[in-house]
Amino acid sequence: MDGIYDLDGVKNIILVASAKGGVGKSTTAINIATALNQLNHNIGILDADIYGPSIPKMLGIREKPKISEDKRFIPIEKFNMKCMSIGFLIDQKTPVIWRGPMIIKALKQMLHGVVWDGVDTLVIDLPPGTGDVQLTLCQKLKISGVVVVSTPQELALIDAIKGINMFKKLNVPILGIVENMSYLKTKSGDIIDIFGKGSVEKAAQKNTINFLGDIPIDKKISKNSDKGVPYLIDNSETDAGKKILEIAKVINKNLNNDKI
Ligand code: ADP
Repeated sequence: MDGIYDLDGVKNIILVASAKGGVGKSTTAINIATALNQLNHNIGILDADIYGPSIPKMLGIREKPKISEDKRFIPIEKFNMKCMSIGFLIDQKTPVIWRGPMIIKALKQMLHGVVWDGVDTLVIDLPPGTGDVQLTLCQKLKISGVVVVSTPQELALIDAIKGINMFKKLNVPILGIVENMSYLKTKSGDIIDIFGKGSVEKAAQKNTINFLGDIPIDKKISKNSDKGVPYLIDNSETDAGKKILEIAKVINKNLNNDKI
């Protein structure tokens, strides 16, 4: 994997990153991908989360990809999006210690050993943190931009800023930061700021990056993950659904305007 790699036909490569696990990075990646698909992007999703590849489960994929005549993986198509996951290449029951060269080999296989034909926007779900996967992808691919996902807690944010600084150092454009699990709306319409309010937006301002928006807690988000259907597919009219669409529209605008 030497030099900058281009993926034939892929115009936009969006990385979805977080500092910690469990903040809703993969869920946000899936839903932003679904929203961009609704905005006419031909979507590919690459699950590069070596520590917990969860995208196939979130898309209800149970089969493994087939191999093309030229010996590449054929990504699995679900909800009009093409998906490839590092989970297809590793046995998920065995804990794997991914050393640098192995990671690079697996990434190369998932990028260039996959029939991404027809995809114009590739959304890559990164592992949490700032490790080899992030470094390799940022150095080898022309990234359109990174979407950072954080919850509002101070501790999650401090690490998210570390991640942002790494992307800045690598000269990777940052599309912005999303505050996930931002608040809970009760049946009577009261808003409860479980983890505090506004901290992600403030941090975005302080670090001169775009605040892309907030996504509330909605138990259907986690139910949909478990049943393998992106939340946005059947919840575009809810608070969270509308917010996800708004976030995707900002991303879409920034991609199309060549602002990044
Ligand atoms: P990460 O990729 O950061 O490890 P996941 O996307 O796997 O996190 O999400 C962790 C859990 O939180 C999942 O069960 C997911 O369904 C749930 N979740 C994520 N975002 C929300 C939300 N806004 N409301 C409710 N549940 C959420």
